[in-house]
Amino acid sequence: MSISDRFAELAQIRESLGTVEADPSRIVMEKILSPTEAIIGNRPTILVGTNNYLGLTFDSGVLEAASAAMHEQGSGTTGSRMANGSFAGHAALERAFAEFYGVPSAMIFSTGYQTNLGLLMAILRPGDKVVLDSHSHACIYDGCRISGADFLAFRHNDPEDLRKRLRRMGGEAEGALVIAEGLYSMLGDTAPLAELCAVAKEYGAWFMVDEAHSFGVYGERGLGLCESAGILDQVDFITGTFSKSLASLGGFCVSRHPEMQLLRYGSRPYIFTASSSPANIAAAHAALDAIRTRPELKDKLWANANRLHDGLRALGYELASTVSPVIAVRVPSKEGGARLWNELLEQGVYANLVLPPAAPDSAALLRCSLSAAHSFAQIDAILAAFETVGAGAGADRAACAEAGA
Ligand code: PMP
Repeated sequence: MSISDRFAELAQIRESLGTVEADPSRIVMEKILSPTEAIIGNRPTILVGTNNYLGLTFDSGVLEAASAAMHEQGSGTTGSRMANGSFAGHAALERAFAEFYGVPSAMIFSTGYQTNLGLLMAILRPGDKVVLDSHSHACIYDGCRISGADFLAFRHNDPEDLRKRLRRMGGEAEGALVIAEGLYSMLGDTAPLAELCAVAKEYGAWFMVDEAHSFGVYGERGLGLCESAGILDQVDFITGTFSKSLASLGGFCVSRHPEMQLLRYGSRPYIFTASSSPANIAAAHAALDAIRTRPELKDKLWANANRLHDGLRALGYELASTVSPVIAVRVPSKEGGARLWNELLEQGVYANLVLPPAAPDSAALLRCSLSAAHSFAQIDAILAAFETVGAGAGADRAACAEAGA
């Protein structure tokens, strides 16, 4: 097989983006001006497609903590958590997560991706049963796949479909693992966690929730959707990432089961990779402190989310869900989505263009995600750009007709 044969499938994916004038995968943030602005293509651009929900990447406390840690402990750990890569900061952050959640057990991994992989690969054996939400993130699917467990998906956010699948398993449902997320990052919809958890528990299954997009954003104390759903004392494993509201790089897993600490002895994504840098750990710790002590950040995020949601609705755009910090505009054709995305960029607004298969249930999404650091003036500028490019759903319909959709 030639090298071009090996890359044929990837070349085809690139080809399918042919109608996209600026290829989303090639966007470079040439200069980062703030959590909500960058220079892209020589133009100052408002960012409404990041995961910087609390806007803490430029927070003075976060920057000072990261800078001090780097100067005191060096730029990298040069080793795994199992060898020379566990510094005092890693242990302190694990204690902080355990205390914040009121659980005996917390572990930190080098990314959110590795957290899910690390948990799933270690607790699942070939033949184990897993039932996961069909919209689960790639790393949840990957963790299940690599573990060799038998996994199947229940219909997105549908407790009755979960019940049906567990019932069909008969005795094997006991000890199965049910997995859901809190806030889903593509459509911006939230899981009915109390109902899903109740069904899992009724059948004696374990319940795991990935709060990657909901930690710091939901719950009275910012613990996530498990907190707002009132199931913190029932959920077995909660995972999350530092790469969104925590403004850093890394991931965490907390559990009410103290045995989870044993993952350190058998989780390959924990053992066979370098630990997060001192600066990443210190930044995440400072951001965690901000979540604990500055609820006004969350309030501002929600005010921004409401303003953008209401504004887009008023312009006639079709939105994928109710108000959340992720507001996805549905566009019925790939070409229409690509066109709107390009035109927004020309107007100085960067959103995420999401195409199938990453866009569930629709041809394309323009994913807008809010930050506490957006000003109302920026939200209004984003709305003005949407008004210019789209004239609401009408322009999209025109784009679709042109594309023969
Ligand atoms: N879980 C979910 C639900 C995610 O959306 C993501 C990242 N987009 C991850 C895990 C992985 O997190 P990280 O970027 O820290 O690897």
